[in-house]
Amino acid sequence: MAIAYNKRTGDCGTLRAGDVGKEVILAGWVNNYRDHGENLVFIDLRDRGGLTQCRFNVDTDPVATRLARTLRKEDVIAVRGEVISRGDNVNPKLPTGEIEVSVHEVDLLSKSLTPPFEVADHVEANEDLRLKYRFLDLRRGPMQRAIMTRHKVLQAFREFYYREGFLEVETPILTKSTPEGARDYLVPSRVFPGSFYALPQSPQLFKQLLMISGFDRYMQIARCFRDEDLRADRQPEFTQVDLEMAFVDVDNVLDVVERSLAYVWKAVLGVEVPVPFRRMSYDDAMRDYGSDKPDLRYGMKLIDLTEVARKSEFKVFTDTVAKGGVVKAICLPGGADMTRKESDGLTTEIQGVGAGGLPLCKVVEEGGKVVLQTGISKFFPGDTVGELVTTAGAKPGDMIFFAAGRFAEVCKYLNWLRITLADRRKMIPKDHWEFLWIVDMPAFEYSEEDKKWVFMHHPFTMPHDEDLDRLESDPGSVRAKCYDSVLNGVELGSGSIRIHRQDVQSRIFRMLGLSDEQAMAKFSHLLNALQYGAPPHGGLALGLDRMAMLLSGSTSIRDVTAFPKTQKAFCPLTECPGDVDQKQLDELGINLNAATKARRRERGA
Ligand code: ASP
Repeated sequence: MAIAYNKRTGDCGTLRAGDVGKEVILAGWVNNYRDHGENLVFIDLRDRGGLTQCRFNVDTDPVATRLARTLRKEDVIAVRGEVISRGDNVNPKLPTGEIEVSVHEVDLLSKSLTPPFEVADHVEANEDLRLKYRFLDLRRGPMQRAIMTRHKVLQAFREFYYREGFLEVETPILTKSTPEGARDYLVPSRVFPGSFYALPQSPQLFKQLLMISGFDRYMQIARCFRDEDLRADRQPEFTQVDLEMAFVDVDNVLDVVERSLAYVWKAVLGVEVPVPFRRMSYDDAMRDYGSDKPDLRYGMKLIDLTEVARKSEFKVFTDTVAKGGVVKAICLPGGADMTRKESDGLTTEIQGVGAGGLPLCKVVEEGGKVVLQTGISKFFPGDTVGELVTTAGAKPGDMIFFAAGRFAEVCKYLNWLRITLADRRKMIPKDHWEFLWIVDMPAFEYSEEDKKWVFMHHPFTMPHDEDLDRLESDPGSVRAKCYDSVLNGVELGSGSIRIHRQDVQSRIFRMLGLSDEQAMAKFSHLLNALQYGAPPHGGLALGLDRMAMLLSGSTSIRDVTAFPKTQKAFCPLTECPGDVDQKQLDELGINLNAATKARRRERGA
């Protein structure tokens, strides 16, 4: 009689010493098999719960043992047997390590081909192969744990927001473009040939409409789509914890979001995260860290040395200052022990980031005096040494690294250097969570490429009330009621208080170069709604994938996405994007042009 695998007594991770003597039914995958001479076969049986060692003894259970000898990795089996103690052979690495199951009966439920890579915690297989066989990759311990962590994160967010009275409302996937700064994915319409839906870059306008509809507190675990060139921590489709609240200002949003993050960190990691989080203005972050998402787990703030650099004899510095640029530095504590090879290496790398070089000097004590050594030390005459050391907050044994140029360039170089030094010199404390709010960003930035002002967050963001009258005359000075949530140097999400007045929204569109007609064509649904009683509102979206990555200790968001795409937005598992029938194209009125056909042929499609 076959084993009733539908009546499993538990999973492969639950049995303990207290279960000895029980009759159990387990089912799962053959993780490992070991033939111990004539009599004994051991199989580690695996399922989502863990591993259980199964023991087959030819003397007591010849039929089961004979079958066990034919089993190979990844075969699916069910076993019935008795839990017995391992005696002195306890495996302390396994939660089930005190026991094993003495198998009386085994059924082969499904045979596996030899897997193209081992289903083990560590695999050598390249990622493309792992993605092609994602169903096997997902069986590996680290992947199972990452996906389970992601589930816990989702569950904890939902629990928190439901408890706080947020309603989860789904918004359309086939919709109209919502500008978040990326390219849209388009879906052709069959019913309206030549017209297209856009997949949402975010539910932004729908959540604003929900506020206008009176729903007051909305949340959604929302799928979003952005067609952009992918970097390591991006996917073309991703998940946001999206929320919106009516009758609120910045403080209300930050309060609920930081409490939700503390709740999730407690639920998933058991870590107490203190609230409220630190807040830093965008200007201060750029000044002190050269980044709008500074990692506060370590120091090395950027120091402005423009004044002392002006008095130096280093031409690069004096020229920069004369041109209105800045000279800033990082002081690396204990950095004077850096080898020439290391600093030369950093110089080459920072040149790759765009800097001309990496001026530096060591701070040392000589005959009771603090002096500079090596690098550009000789260009600091007399008193400037003391001024430099004091301003930089340097002590003997430290190294000072400089950057000169326009403010934005210097930020870029020193931000790179700060992160690189902290990482290479192992200055980043483990298991440390530094949450931070960046507030008061500029509303707009000037795009040299497009020769016009563009929005920093999105065009629905409310400017500071007191900056509104400079909207047209001095857009660069207008601050936005916008906030970014940052953790350990990673942006978790951003949000803003929205414009709830149609006249202000229209002014912003005009300022961004959209005529009233163009704005109406793109956003009539919002502009209309704003005229029918729109409450003040605001919200935010957090990147779920990135949080799941950090919480599971993964290094890539692909590892916390069950079925991710490659850097080229390709899915090796399903081989999409793929071809469609000519009939489907005809129905959509789509004619591939000659160039596209040629490119398809080149790909071998
Ligand atoms: N829609 C914004 C985004 O996707 C978030 C927000 O402003 O709520 O970044």
